Amino acid sequence: MAADPQGLGLTAPRIKPQDLEDDPDRLFTDMTDWSVVDATGVARYRYNDRELHRAWADNAPKVRQFMMDNYIRFARIDGTHQGGGVSRARAARAIMKMADKTDIKAGTLSPQDRGDPAAERHSPFNPMRTIPGGSATALGAPGWVFGGFVIARSLEYSAREKGIRFMLNRHMDEIIREQPFSGRVLGVKASYTPRMHPETGARLESFWQNGNIDERADTIYIRARKAVIVGTGGMHGSVPLRTMIDPRMVEPSIEYGPSSLIGPRNMDGSGIIAGMKIGANLAGMMQNYQHSLASPTISSVLGTRDAVASIFPGHPAFLFARAKGIAIGNAGWEHVIAVNQVGQRFYNESTIGSISSDAKYPPGSDGTRNPFVPLDWRNASTAQVKAQYKRSAASDAALAMNEGSRAPDYASGPVWAIFDSAAVARGGWPVRYPYIADPPDGYFHKADTLAELAKKVMGHPHQKMPLKHLVETVARYNALADKGVDEDFEKPVMHRIDTPPFYAATAGIRVLDSYGGLRINGKAQVVDTHGEVITGLYAGGEASGGGTQHGIGRASVHGYIAGTNAAQEPSA
Ligand SMILES: Cc1cc2nc3c(=O)[nH]c(=O)nc-3n(C[C@H](O)[C@H](O)[C@H](O)COP(=O)(O)OP(=O)(O)OC[C@H]3O[C@@H](n4cnc5c(N)ncnc54)[C@H](O)[C@@H]3O)c2cc1C
Repeated sequence: MAADPQGLGLTAPRIKPQDLEDDPDRLFTDMTDWSVVDATGVARYRYNDRELHRAWADNAPKVRQFMMDNYIRFARIDGTHQGGGVSRARAARAIMKMADKTDIKAGTLSPQDRGDPAAERHSPFNPMRTIPGGSATALGAPGWVFGGFVIARSLEYSAREKGIRFMLNRHMDEIIREQPFSGRVLGVKASYTPRMHPETGARLESFWQNGNIDERADTIYIRARKAVIVGTGGMHGSVPLRTMIDPRMVEPSIEYGPSSLIGPRNMDGSGIIAGMKIGANLAGMMQNYQHSLASPTISSVLGTRDAVASIFPGHPAFLFARAKGIAIGNAGWEHVIAVNQVGQRFYNESTIGSISSDAKYPPGSDGTRNPFVPLDWRNASTAQVKAQYKRSAASDAALAMNEGSRAPDYASGPVWAIFDSAAVARGGWPVRYPYIADPPDGYFHKADTLAELAKKVMGHPHQKMPLKHLVETVARYNALADKGVDEDFEKPVMHRIDTPPFYAATAGIRVLDSYGGLRINGKAQVVDTHGEVITGLYAGGEASGGGTQHGIGRASVHGYIAGTNAAQEPSA
């Protein structure tokens, strides 16, 4: 562990090698440890499917090797990846080295492909939000940067190099089985769904194109020689599915996943729905519950329809996001009030950024007892839960019914951040393109009076009424600021909002991850409502259910399990 066998120029490990000792048994025990309670009082690992996590733990080391065999390099292990167990540090970030030229085989990345926040540019190579390619120096890799793009681009490059063919611009609509609820899965039906440049009307093309199949028929049927693997991601774009988990998510303005990157069918749950139509069972639907990334939170990136991507021009997805958004950070809420669709405050704004959090390594950080002993009842004792509990209910208050909620859904409406020019000056916030849209798109408004501002928000696609109470809300807030005591919501520091022009920017209610989906066994085979395997159907990642583990680590291991098992199916 201390050495640097790949010769990447890594510095000494931050965590002592003996503290990194790990194996699949320990990983499995960790991932199903009943006693771990997070900072919201929820014991996530307790509900993880045991067969699935045994398979996950056994395959995780093989996937790391598979990734390294396909051009991915890793920095030093540091901290916990959310949902990755807490008795050991296990977070491994994929890295590329800054150089003149991007070369996947050599692991190098050009400054242009990295993207440049100072120049306000992202690149088509790397859409990573906020910091395009964060510095990996603190992860023991000086001169390197990290990000999910490293994994995606390296695997894509390697697959294309090996002759894998890609049929893009298609949406799988149905999975076809011999009989509606019995027999083998035979293939899929898919429709042609290209994305067009909003100005030129030209079809958007992938960054690399070698191996692409240009097939433009409206509907096609693809026969599976061995199996169909569902890897369609999450389901928060489907109101019927997401309200199975949380009925408040009927609210149409909720943002989910990186919508501008994936497009209008982002997280539409189509793989889950297609599986349900041929008899698949679901699992883990409750595992979104109070998860910091999978249940609604209020964004501190204001004034954009896609606060999740938070993307600069230079990547084609900016054409759809239209604004990067103004990142005010948690501290910025001191200068801003949050109001509901009728212009009323609903919570102490200074806690909006305090979202719930997973249990973490090292022990003593969020939601982990220090000292942490695996499987120890004290991790879940009332005293421990009280000591570590940390959760703001700001998003719950935002999703509550208000005067504007109407039958039949009684939806809560969008949340607006209201501030004045003095706040802009104090925060140094860029109230200009590309942080806000030009021409305006309804997510950011400016007016000389609050009364005028209250009407302008009607430009937002999901705002159904003017901010009826805004003038009186701000008057009350200013009076409380003069007193120095927030008698209504106990906000600790307040500043008057009285310097025109005034601003209203959306503070999107959003979810990032999706848990719950098709029920799979340890071979990643989809299981039906009678507990029987649906022959020839596999699934993984956010389209599957049974665990609250976050992200790429979960999806890639499921993909590996599904792929290796599907390859052994008899050929049709
Ligand atoms: C902003 C952001 C930052 C993140 N950061 C991290 C991180 O740092 N580390 C980490 O581990 N995880 C991170 N995650 C989470 C991680 O990206 C996801 O958990 C992971 O990508 C899920 O993988 P998946 O293969 O299940 O689904 P996805 O990656 O969502 O892939 C699903 C794919 O299927 C396509 N698709 C969907 N339906 C259909 C259909 N019917 N027909 C054809 N194609 C379809 C979609 O367009 C998409 O390309 C982040 C997520 C976001 C949004």
